[in-house]
Formats: sequence, C-alpha cells, structure tokens
Amino acid sequence: MFPLIKKPKKVIYLDYAATTPVDPRVQKVMRPFENEVFGNPSSLYRQGREAAESINASRGDIANILGVSRNEIIFTAGGTESINLAIFGAVRGCLQNYKNNLKKIHLITSAIEHPAVLESVRELQRQGAQLTVVDVDSEGFIQLDKLFESIRPETVLISVMHANNEIGTIQPIAEIGKRLAKINSTRFQEGLPKILFHTDACQTAGVLDVRPGLLGVDLLSANGSKMYGPKQTGFLYVRAGVVVSPLIFGGGQEYNKRSGTENVAGIVGLAKAFVLANKEQKKENKRQETLRDYCIQKLNKKIPGIILNGPRSNAAVSLKNQNAASMRLPNNIHFSIPGVDGEALLLYLDSYCVAVSTGSACSSASNDPSHVLLAIGRTTKEARGSLRITLGKFTKKSDLEYLIKLLPELVAELQKVVS
Ligand SMILES: *Cc1c(COP(=O)(O)O)cnc(C)c1O
Repeated sequence: MFPLIKKPKKVIYLDYAATTPVDPRVQKVMRPFENEVFGNPSSLYRQGREAAESINASRGDIANILGVSRNEIIFTAGGTESINLAIFGAVRGCLQNYKNNLKKIHLITSAIEHPAVLESVRELQRQGAQLTVVDVDSEGFIQLDKLFESIRPETVLISVMHANNEIGTIQPIAEIGKRLAKINSTRFQEGLPKILFHTDACQTAGVLDVRPGLLGVDLLSANGSKMYGPKQTGFLYVRAGVVVSPLIFGGGQEYNKRSGTENVAGIVGLAKAFVLANKEQKKENKRQETLRDYCIQKLNKKIPGIILNGPRSNAAVSLKNQNAASMRLPNNIHFSIPGVDGEALLLYLDSYCVAVSTGSACSSASNDPSHVLLAIGRTTKEARGSLRITLGKFTKKSDLEYLIKLLPELVAELQKVVS
C-alpha cells in the first residue's frame, strides 16, 4: 500500500496559510520583553516608559508601511479579534443613527469569507440586522455587479476579504474601494450615511500592498501568526473619524478601543515581522510564484483528472503591476483530486513527514465540506477530495520535488482502494 519512498530527514511544512513559524529575527527582538523589560506600559517609572516607548515605535513602524497615522492602528490579539472589533465595533458605532435598532441596518459580505467574518455578520443577523452574502464566480472572485446591486439606503458596512485563505483568490479590493467612494459621495449629497468598507487582510499583510489609501478601505484586519510573527497578535486599522465602539472595556488602552495591559513582546514581534515581510516581499513573492507554478504544472501532468481550485489563468504573471497581475496568492496551490478522501491523503502525507491541509485549518473541527469550495461550484465529493499546499519563505525546491514524487503515487494507491 505505501509507496516505497524514503522519508525526508526533516518535516516538509507546506501549510503556511494556516500559520507560519516565528522568524528568528522576530524572536530576538521579543526576548528582552519577556524578562528584562517587563514594566506595564501605563506605569510612569522607567520600566513602564521603556515598554510604552517600544509600543509607540512598533505602532509607528506599522503606520509608516501602511501610510497612515499611528493613532489609526489598534493592537489586538489576532486576526479574529481584529475582525470582530471591525464588524461589531463599526455596527455599534453607527447604531445610534438608526435609533439603536439593528433591524434598520444592512450588511454585505462575500460567500467565501473566513469564519471570523461570516460568523460575526451572521450573529448580527440573528440579532436582527439585514445581511446580503454575495456569490463568487468559479474562480472565487466576488461578483461585482451583485455586490453593488445589493447596496441599499440602510447599508452600513461592506466586508470583503483581500485574499482567500483556502483557494488563494485575490479580490479586486482597490476597485471596490474606488466605486464605493463614488457611491458614498452621492450618498453624502443625498444625506445618507457613508458605507464603511472593511477588508480581512490576514492572508495578504506582508505579502501584498495593503495600504488602506490604495485599497480604499476604512478598516483593515491583519494578524502576526501568518507573517512569521507571534501567535495571538494582530492589528486593526481604523480610518481617522470612523467610530468603532470597543468590545473590551477597562483601562482605556489602545485609544479606548481595546482595554487591557498590552502584550508588549507580542506587539514588538508583530511590528518586526511586518517590517521584515515588507522588505523582503517582492523577491520572496517572485520566488514562491515560480515554485508554485512549477508544482502546479507537474502535479497537473502526473495526476489524472486533478482540478486546480481558485484562479486558473494568469497564475504566472508577476506581482509588479498589481492591477493586472496574478490574482492568486504567490504561495497558494489548491486541488480537488478525484476518487480520494482529502483527509486520508493528508494523514498519509503526514506519515511521510509532509504537512499540508485539506482546505482550511479553521474548519478542521467540523466535518462539513468547505463553504469556499461549495461556493465556487465544487460538489460535496470534490470538496472532500481536496488538498491545500501553501508555500513559505523556508520552502525549498527540493521540498516540492519530494511532494511531486510522492503525491501521485499515494493518490494512485488511494484511488485503487476506492475503486
Ligand atoms: C487566519 C485567518 C483569520 C483568523 O486569524 P487568527 O489570527 O487565527 O485569529 C482570519 N481571516 C483569514 C483570511 C485568515 O487566514
């Protein structure tokens, strides 16, 4: 049953979209804050001031890259928290304009959002809010006509992810932002409130240009654990003037939007990770795209009937000109493979020390087929037979050569069992 292929000496990790290892340079800058510099940033003596200054510098580094002001950056404990603060915070922030009646407000999102977004808007829907979930096409791109047709006078928030964590589709956020700005200026003349625009950039911060000015967003969520930073760290960008009500009340830290003693080591690590990722992103993206396309081509040839999920065309265009460029994340490969169970395949690969995902790590607790794959038109069966391979900065060509050798043989064996 098992192909006679020698196991690699080290684990071949190909699940960078789930999380990334912490960069050693990030670990190094965090270390002092784990012991020597332990002061509470709110304390006035030196230990506290040092901690506060480090947070301030970290905030400045992130703001600089984003081309925004420091006080537009709110540190949180990860992507999910940033997203919850963006969605619930923005809705609560505008609710008094609607007589505190959730039924009077309308939200728009896409069908392939991360559960952090989908479950947040669904919770608001359960509480009475109106919700439109816009379909995507067969490659995962949001249907723009449907998105703009769904806007109503009572629409307060649109949330569309920058890139999908399962199939790697990069959404035209800047285009949506531009069209929305026009709609908002008309609404202003009509005396209607502005529609806020949030993007979940957890898969793109550090990979693509995520400057809010370029994207035309009011709110942007990011996390450290996908960019070689520490887990449970993240930030939310909130455009100056946008009211976001806090979810966590207390001492008033983070401009009163997220109380509690700051995770100083985590914040310093997050900022370092973001700075490094932005410095290295052009070169690294190009390298990963080459590896990605090589791997896609080889597997396409070697595994009969295999279907590439996500953007199919243009996969090899460079990211230099982002508007016309590849609309697939540089590190993403996602296949449906006929006649195999994705989970079985994952476990066999694990026994060969290769770590991949069946689709989305976030839904591994449930047995339901991926909502993303169903949304792009895959059958339940195809969705269950899928594999996500995501590369990172420690991925070598030899890692992929190993996968290209092993995977077709494993698939052939598994297909025999099924048939
Ligand atoms: C990982 C991820 C999240 C959640 O981030 P956490 O830091 O795990 O809370 C949200 N959205 C996308 C697109 C992600 O990839």
